[in-house]
Amino acid sequence: MTVIKAQAALAKGAALEDFSYQPEELGPNDIEIEISHCGLCHSDIHLIDDSWSRSKYPQVPGHEIVGTVGAMGSAVKHLELGQRVGVGWQRSACLECDLCLGGEENLCPRQQATCMGHHGGLADRIRIDGRFAFALPPDLDSAAAAPLLCGGVTVYAPMRRYGIGATSSVAVIGIGGLGHMAIRMLRALGAEVTAFSTSPDKKPEALAMGAHDFASSTDAREIRKHFGRFDLILSTVAARLDWTTYLQTLRANGTLCLLGIPPGMIMQFPPSLLITGQRSITGSDIGGRAIIREMLRFVTRHGVVPQIQRMPMVEANAALTRLRQNQVRYRLVLER
Ligand code: NAP
Ligand code: ZN
Repeated sequence: MTVIKAQAALAKGAALEDFSYQPEELGPNDIEIEISHCGLCHSDIHLIDDSWSRSKYPQVPGHEIVGTVGAMGSAVKHLELGQRVGVGWQRSACLECDLCLGGEENLCPRQQATCMGHHGGLADRIRIDGRFAFALPPDLDSAAAAPLLCGGVTVYAPMRRYGIGATSSVAVIGIGGLGHMAIRMLRALGAEVTAFSTSPDKKPEALAMGAHDFASSTDAREIRKHFGRFDLILSTVAARLDWTTYLQTLRANGTLCLLGIPPGMIMQFPPSLLITGQRSITGSDIGGRAIIREMLRFVTRHGVVPQIQRMPMVEANAALTRLRQNQVRYRLVLER
């Protein structure tokens, strides 16, 4: 009998405890990964806290997984035993609908998340559909690769969707796990980057990562200085912000793209701002398999790796506390 040893929250908001479970039998397309690293994304905290009212307990978080293939089903041809792979937020999809066939498996109505309704990567092993495991470029360090698989593709996909390049001006709100990867990728794409943050101490590092400008994300006077400047704003914060002022920092036809979900049911701004200047508000949900593969090639070619702090996986609770307190610089990766 196979038993997977993991760490789980047994109730909403609870500290993680040792937890073992028996995985489902390996299907023909499935693989078992022996996990070496798992990044901690803020979505793991939303899952532990049931922020989205969709968590099931025991909740094993962790969806920025790197490890090696330990077992595989009979239909898996693209991977080999012992091969190093990465897995992000998504563990499967139907692979038959128009969205899947168009490369947007992340939008598939039957898509399944790695650690929502399933047990995630804070564990010694995991079983998932092998078609959602990505071979990692040999030059990419395993710990540095982990955060790319969720956070990395989440910021990269909208840059590509909105055609960001060397003449673009882009704002990044929140310089955490997602935000710092966004700055580095945007700089590699040649864009002008402005970082908005609540943490003045992050300024020197944000500038060193490639931001041209750094401003307070909550002081309207500072935000106003950027009126009419941005083609794209990537908001990586799960907080209520002054959207009216931010919308006015967009150029004509500019886009405010939400990656973090602001709390509550209502987002307030004058609708006239969507007409004058033809501004848009949208969101972006991780990325499909093709864009994940493209992102891995992009970061390898341009040497754009996350700035990580490593901790042993057994110290996951201490790591979660640091993430909750906004003390991480800039992504925590747990190692087994
Ligand atoms: P993170 O590392 O904690 O970074 C979030 C940053 O937001 C913080 O570092 C902080 O940056 C800023 N912040 C925190 N509280 C704030 C507040 N009250 N007001 C303004 N800014 C605040 O989190 P992450 O892992 O990057 O994830 C960010 C969000 O993206 C999470 O909500 C997560 O669920 C979501 N997410 C979405 C997707 C998707 O597919 N759309 C994928 C992954 C994650 P400063 O110190 O610079 O202010
Ligand atoms: Zn994530």
